[in-house]
Amino acid sequence: MSSRPPSRHWRSSLDGEAVCWLTLDKAESGANTLSAEVLDELALELEALRATPPRGLVLESGKRSGFILGADVNEFSQLRNATQAAEMAARGQAVLGRIATLGVPTVAAIDGFALGGGLELALACDYRVAASSYERTLGLPEVQLGIHPGFGGSVRTVDLLGPLAALDLMLTGRSLSPHEALKAGLVDAVVERDALRSKAKDFVIRRPPRHRAPWYLRALNRMPMRRVLASRVRAGVRKRANLKHYPAPYAIVDLWERFGARGEAAMHAEALSIGKLLVTPTCRNLVHVFKLRERLRNLAPKDSAIRRVHVVGAGTMGGDIAAWCALKGLDVTVQDRAQQFVEPALTRAAELFRKRLRAPGEAEAAAQRLRVDLTAAEVGSADLVLEAIVEKAEAKRALFAELEPRLPAGALIATNTSSIRLETLAGALREPGRFVGLHFFNPVASLPLVEVIRGEQTSERAVLAAASFVTRIGKLPLPCLSSPGFVVNRLLTPYMLEALHAHSDGHSLESIDAAAKDFGMPMGPVELADRVGLDVALHVAEILSDVLRSAPPEALRAKVAKGELGVKTRRGFYAYDARDKPIKDRSRSRFDADLPDRLLLPLLNEAVACLHEGVAADADLIDAGVIFGAGFAPFTGGPLRYARARGVDDVIARLTDFTRRFGTRFTPHEGWQKLRQSA
Ligand code: NAD
Repeated sequence: MSSRPPSRHWRSSLDGEAVCWLTLDKAESGANTLSAEVLDELALELEALRATPPRGLVLESGKRSGFILGADVNEFSQLRNATQAAEMAARGQAVLGRIATLGVPTVAAIDGFALGGGLELALACDYRVAASSYERTLGLPEVQLGIHPGFGGSVRTVDLLGPLAALDLMLTGRSLSPHEALKAGLVDAVVERDALRSKAKDFVIRRPPRHRAPWYLRALNRMPMRRVLASRVRAGVRKRANLKHYPAPYAIVDLWERFGARGEAAMHAEALSIGKLLVTPTCRNLVHVFKLRERLRNLAPKDSAIRRVHVVGAGTMGGDIAAWCALKGLDVTVQDRAQQFVEPALTRAAELFRKRLRAPGEAEAAAQRLRVDLTAAEVGSADLVLEAIVEKAEAKRALFAELEPRLPAGALIATNTSSIRLETLAGALREPGRFVGLHFFNPVASLPLVEVIRGEQTSERAVLAAASFVTRIGKLPLPCLSSPGFVVNRLLTPYMLEALHAHSDGHSLESIDAAAKDFGMPMGPVELADRVGLDVALHVAEILSDVLRSAPPEALRAKVAKGELGVKTRRGFYAYDARDKPIKDRSRSRFDADLPDRLLLPLLNEAVACLHEGVAADADLIDAGVIFGAGFAPFTGGPLRYARARGVDDVIARLTDFTRRFGTRFTPHEGWQKLRQSA
């Protein structure tokens, strides 16, 4: 043992009862990931233990940030081909296999996140003990990166949970709380944090029989049942993921169908399959998006000084922003014209707290943090005033003029305006330096992005404080210039408007939405316009008509004039049923080969315009904006990354052709030339 170089990442110690404690504390890192070096060192540790077996082994983390967050995604980009990637997975499997065959009882003591490869490592142990928590910390999220478990997880989960629950975990990538994991059979015990080590040791000493899925679940692994179930599961996958864009979920079902999660053959196939997936453009782009998320998360300091928020306007946006802030632990007051305008927001807030806060008493505590303050009596103690009243400049200016003198020095003032120039509103303030835009998206609870808008007079300090606040409430800040539509609406509007032009040219609504979804958009542009509200869409289109070089289509004006405003009036371009689902005629979904480009290229062209004008600082930030603010096809890595991968010349040629056929709104922006040089 002594001839081996000391581990950089693992600490090993033997206690008085000959139990070995192997602690992962990855050097120079705040969190544990399974890098190649971490795995190599683990292999050496296990070799030494095999030579001198202890009574048992407990694997644990030395980090406060959790057990192990997964493989090291930074290493994925070094993989050059499928063979090399499969070898990487096979090496990981081999190291974890040494845990499984060590010959002494092995336990994973899990405190906090055990995700992906981290959970796979725990699965290779005989037993898993988790510290109690209400957070969902245990899962196999690989599918979200375009891959699947690669260190034996696709085999071991099936053995522990049975195929249906195991496939569900792998296909959805969702995480379980320790208690949910216990119920599912993923962990063997859940205890309070301070009892974690003693419970882990207890398993080593007692050596209870290892958990396996009950026989009737394991029986589902046999043919012909397996084939029947696989085709049923695959049909479900088909509804959610297009094979062309997302091969990983299909690979998960295929692996199980072919090998039934049994033996070496299943392990070998798992490595080959993940090898292929790891070098697909989908995986590379999804990893890129993962890193973009990290980038936005780390743009601003995490220690926001904002504790007290005063929200004015308790409508769709203000009500939900106030609730979100209270959910995230801030002390919130909310103001509107009268109590009746706040009531619906309070009802929605209670629902949000009930859904998201599961620890006893937490929902009640959040509700107490959210208080109504119709007269702004408490505005004097606010660190941030966030305005979300009607979209009328005069009303907003009057509000700021009234509230600003009552604010403490240093408090930040923000507006959620979608379309009014910040400079127009800043004129009402004595201290415009502390005025920023905080543009949230609807629905607030599900869209992670917040555009942080810098007006001409906004101070650097205010931008940073606002971005820090956004990070503090668990959202992703995107700094933008005060320019019409900022990034997200600027890009989405031409996409929605082109849909209406195409409709006027005779394409069915259904075919238009189908074409966009085939490209990979989460929702077609017609349905999106109906959901945004056609009055709002028209308003934004008018504001943007100069920059977009195109007037809003007549069809949109006509709908608004008729009062058919979309989902909120049950009728827009589609009619909506009682569950707010559009009534579509699926037989009209076939679309022309040109249609996806016709819808998407205006968005791409506008992305280039935004980049050229510096609305956001670089191409990645613009891509991040439309992915996190509007769900733009994540497997592409964003519009600008997509354009580069496709070939800038090809995009320009297509835009030029469309300019001839459909009009000057398709004229390629001059910024493409610059992008071509940097491609
Ligand atoms: P809304 O009509 O749902 O809510 C506005 C609320 O403000 C109402 O409850 C109203 O009673 C209240 N209000 C109006 N004048 C007031 C005043 N002087 N003092 C106090 N309260 C007042 O509007 P909304 O959709 O929530 O939009 C609010 C703001 O957010 C607008 O600036 C809009 O551009 C922006 N925005 C909206 C969306 C969206 O999708 N709805 C998305 C992003 C940004």
